[in-house]
Amino acid sequence: MIRVLVMAGLVFMLGCESGGQMETSTGSLKVTTTTGIVAEVVRKVGGDHVSVVNLMGPGVDPHLYKASEGDIQRLEKADLIFYNGLNLEGKMGEIFVKMARKGKLTFALSESVDTRLLREPPEFQGHYDPHIWFDVSLWAQTIPVVVGALSEAKPSARGDFVANGERYDAELADLHEYCRDRLASIPSERRVLVTAHDAFGYFGRAYNIEVVGLQGITTTSEYGLKDVQRIVQLITERRLSAVFVESSVPKRSIEAVVAGVRSRGHNVRIGGQLFSDAMGEPGTPEGTYPGMVRHNVETIVQSLK
Ligand SMILES: [Zn+2]
Repeated sequence: MIRVLVMAGLVFMLGCESGGQMETSTGSLKVTTTTGIVAEVVRKVGGDHVSVVNLMGPGVDPHLYKASEGDIQRLEKADLIFYNGLNLEGKMGEIFVKMARKGKLTFALSESVDTRLLREPPEFQGHYDPHIWFDVSLWAQTIPVVVGALSEAKPSARGDFVANGERYDAELADLHEYCRDRLASIPSERRVLVTAHDAFGYFGRAYNIEVVGLQGITTTSEYGLKDVQRIVQLITERRLSAVFVESSVPKRSIEAVVAGVRSRGHNVRIGGQLFSDAMGEPGTPEGTYPGMVRHNVETIVQSLK
């Protein structure tokens, strides 16, 4: 499906090149995005040349999110649409196809990520793991999609988009290094991250941490007593000290795990809240992508060390 979107985008761009410029080539580009993490890449690259409307705020779960009437209008009004893709916005797939068919410039940021680096967990039945922002170096690979798309829409600002993209790329390279260094300070036998859903697979791979999720790769899958028992057993056997809740997933699943472990006489605590599929409140450090990543890393290091 994503291939179809890209084709649609390309066809439209080719059409633009031969048929003239977009109306918006002088003013600021109106962009609509899905998650805050996607919005940040567009804001960083676009600078003053874009005005971004983002659909999913803090604490919103993109796997379950359904577009409202107002969202459809916000998408229709946009010059460009950016989303994560790889089925993260699982209930919005048809809408993106429709928008692309209407000729709207519609881009999945995940498109430019090297597919050989994408995780394909067996439990996800042939789909890629969409949580690519958890490996900062992987997320940096999405910048060219935004640079390319904005440059196409406003060629006069191409130089700014390229420079902004390079600056953000350097910022993310530093952030990636920081994650590596900080997480390496956790003793290897304690490097186990238990969370509510399997969002942290790329994180675990990039920073050498074993990751165990109660729910599958998307929160649409149900978890059962069996899953709880499996994780209770693992925590008890390995004497893990902390598990984590996520800002965009209800706490009750992890609380059930904690209760189960305690009933077996081992004390485990909730090490804190991690930002997984949504950033924190705007205006707080966690309301930015680097801030959210740092919060997660510090919370994990403090609790597992
Ligand atoms: Zn997720």
